Amino acid sequence: MTDYNAYIATDTIEGAEGGPLAGKTVAVKDNISTKGVQTTCGSAMLEGYVPPYDATVIKRLKDAGATIPGKTNMDEFGMGTTTETSAYGAVENPAARGRVPGGSSGGSAAVVAAGDADYALGSDTGGSVRCPAAFCGVVGIKPTYGLVSRYGLVAYANSLEQIGPLAPTVEEAAELLEVIAGPDERDGTTRDAREHGTDYDFADAADGDVEGLSIGVPTELLDGADERVVETFWDAIDELESRGASYHEVDLPSVEHAVEAYYVIAMSEASSNLARFDGVRYGQSGGEGNWNESFAKARDEGFGEEVKRRVLLGTYALSAGYHDKYYKKAQDARAWVKQDFDEALSGADVLASPTMPVPPMKRGESLDDPLTMYLADANTTPVNLANLPAISVPAGETDDGLPVGLQLVGPAFGEKTIIRAGSALA
Ligand code: GLN
Repeated sequence: MTDYNAYIATDTIEGAEGGPLAGKTVAVKDNISTKGVQTTCGSAMLEGYVPPYDATVIKRLKDAGATIPGKTNMDEFGMGTTTETSAYGAVENPAARGRVPGGSSGGSAAVVAAGDADYALGSDTGGSVRCPAAFCGVVGIKPTYGLVSRYGLVAYANSLEQIGPLAPTVEEAAELLEVIAGPDERDGTTRDAREHGTDYDFADAADGDVEGLSIGVPTELLDGADERVVETFWDAIDELESRGASYHEVDLPSVEHAVEAYYVIAMSEASSNLARFDGVRYGQSGGEGNWNESFAKARDEGFGEEVKRRVLLGTYALSAGYHDKYYKKAQDARAWVKQDFDEALSGADVLASPTMPVPPMKRGESLDDPLTMYLADANTTPVNLANLPAISVPAGETDDGLPVGLQLVGPAFGEKTIIRAGSALA
């Protein structure tokens, strides 16, 4: 068993007999509700909370015969890029000791990288599946918004997030996506991919055939990236080219504002979503007495520093007088980002960039500097703003042996295209 602190709990949940995932283990991020098994979101607030129902993805895993070996560690409520903000301790990167595994689904990526689970589920609000996949040298998919049900996923910023698979290879990640994808009457934002010109045979698409594939490279997503990362990125593009793909540069001028817009929107949604953790409806009780004091005490004791920072900033961004200045502006930027992606994808099958502009940071290095940490999400957050699908596949390693991820972005419901392209590499 892993010594990377990747699991918060190792209660085993057995699935049905038989099915496509029979005999396979799927570790599950601890913000996905599991009936009868503690679900903490990496927060002290939810220590001991046991959901009375299964998330839709859990029901589908069980029906497919999977065994869930445990709930994986994560940044508190999904807020982070390093899996160091968990109330249950930080996770170490099994593929780069002494380094962070990326976040917020760091536990999920770590157990797959260490071989402690066959597959894992994470959630991706602004990169939380792709970032840890890149840092741990595994594959992660952030599906098109609406492809996978969010029912039972504890919400951080629901207009941005999707549950997504992590696995050692693209084909395996696609197999898991096949099991969890598809409309759900319990989540009104889900869509049927068949009404969007595709089917659910994702694993079949992992045939490695990139002959004739047109790759757009947004130059903005290379600017400012670490040199070692850029070098490894171009090696991966060369590899795709040698297999029959071609690439050209494209412009995404709006992405300059994407991280800012993402953080305003994510924090605003978080401030509202996390209001339910008041010690009455959910969470540790703040004790008896005056309601205001009890509420404040529950939240003061239950939430960590990063969560408090975001609830405060989000509340501020939504408050009367500032709403137009921050939230509305961020929504305008979001529309612009969407438009830019549509344009770039009208002339390319996929867009490619490094998943993360930097290799995995040393443990403890980024905690005191939230702004730098937010900037590390420059390449992943625009994709969530645009609700598009993206995959992170191992692109190789830097000369000093650190994993680098290649991100491929496709058009809405273009999962098969990014799976096919990514499978040429992993
Ligand atoms: N690092 C980003 C954030 O902290 C993304 C997190 C996520 O996708 N859950 O918001």
